[in-house]
Amino acid sequence: MKTVKVNVVTPDGPVYEADVEMVSAKAQSGELGILPGHIPMVAPLQVGAVRLKKEGNTELVAVSGGFLEVRPDQVTILAQAAETAEHIDVHRAQQAKHRAEQRLQAKQEHVDFKRAELALKRAINRLNVTQNKY
Ligand code: ATP
Repeated sequence: MKTVKVNVVTPDGPVYEADVEMVSAKAQSGELGILPGHIPMVAPLQVGAVRLKKEGNTELVAVSGGFLEVRPDQVTILAQAAETAEHIDVHRAQQAKHRAEQRLQAKQEHVDFKRAELALKRAINRLNVTQNKY
């Protein structure tokens, strides 16, 4: 089986590295599926789960936006924050989700809705990844 090397990198350091059969990610332009030998490209990502098909299994990494870069020999995902399921604190994500929902319901002028919406997306994405949902 052909594979491609994948690295998920954040400002805090590398989060995931493996040789995989396929990388799937949610780009701003829609769903992307990258197989070994894909042409070079760069795509901005949405908040979402990156799916990595490895030896027939699918592994998930929660990614808070960023960029996906395809080069001939490897795929790099550069994100402000990214976590594999085992590194996600479920309680923290539930709290973040609750906080964001409260802010979105508040209908107060000082609330930055765009920011609250993004925080909500990050929290839901983390919870989905811990539940193996994508
Ligand atoms: P919170 O409000 O809980 O901080 P957030 O979505 O605002 O959540 P980010 O700004 O996306 O947090 O991330 C800040 C740092 O904290 C990153 O290093 C990220 O990986 C980590 N992080 C955020 N939420 C969690 C979580 N639920 N479990 C583990 N790490 C997390």
